[in-house]
Amino acid sequence: MMTKERGQLIVFSGPSGVGKGTILAKYMEGRRDICYSVSATTRSPRPGEVDGTHYFFWTKEKFEEMIAAGQMLEYAQYNGNYYGTPRQFVEEKLAAGMNVVLEIEVQGAAKVRAACPEGLFIFVLPPSFEVLRSRLTDRGTEDAATVQKRLDAALGELRQAASYDYVIVNDDLDRAVEALAAVVRADRCSVKFQKNLIEEVLEHA
Ligand code: ADP
Ligand code: 5GP
Repeated sequence: MMTKERGQLIVFSGPSGVGKGTILAKYMEGRRDICYSVSATTRSPRPGEVDGTHYFFWTKEKFEEMIAAGQMLEYAQYNGNYYGTPRQFVEEKLAAGMNVVLEIEVQGAAKVRAACPEGLFIFVLPPSFEVLRSRLTDRGTEDAATVQKRLDAALGELRQAASYDYVIVNDDLDRAVEALAAVVRADRCSVKFQKNLIEEVLEHA
């Protein structure tokens, strides 16, 4: 009997407004084998955002305590706020065989890559920078100055896209969701993910 397979750690990045949340919500609909890692942040909630569902909204003091206690898998500063992934949830779910998705920016993703090289790193690209600008503006969740800061940050983030394993263009939403499903499925058969399985078969030969 094979030991239980660990889940896949899926890191999902891309500039603010590219559609990460929209793609993930659609991909996860009705799936029971995957869970979303709720990040912690020191930014204020947007209208409709619920503490514990969209983010854990922490004070700067609480965030720094959690860093000091080694409880964050990764964290980064973005637009003057801390954002980070609580470690315990991710580790427990992976050990239980669930796939876990982290929706995080590029500096945090690089830290996860160093700690978990077996992860699957996906970058979401906009069809063009202009489309990104209009999605971010039309979403209407940030004022003009914040939109501009996010677009400035987007340039630096887009330059990191080549260090990911896969790129998904979010032009047509259904096609992007389909591409995500295909990449996750294929990664499960990758040698890097199945290395232990190969060794296990050999051990019992
Ligand atoms: P992110 O999570 O990357 O910040 P969102 O998921 O909030 O981005 O999407 C930003 C905006 O773009 C939202 O208003 C969303 O409805 C819209 N959007 C997302 N994907 C598409 C798409 N494929 N076509 C058109 N609009 C989209
Ligand atoms: P927003 O304020 O739009 O929710 O998020 C801003 C950026 O922070 C996005 O690129 C988002 O992916 C990223 N982010 C959200 N949670 C985390 C996290 O836990 N860690 C890191 N490093 N980035 C995060």
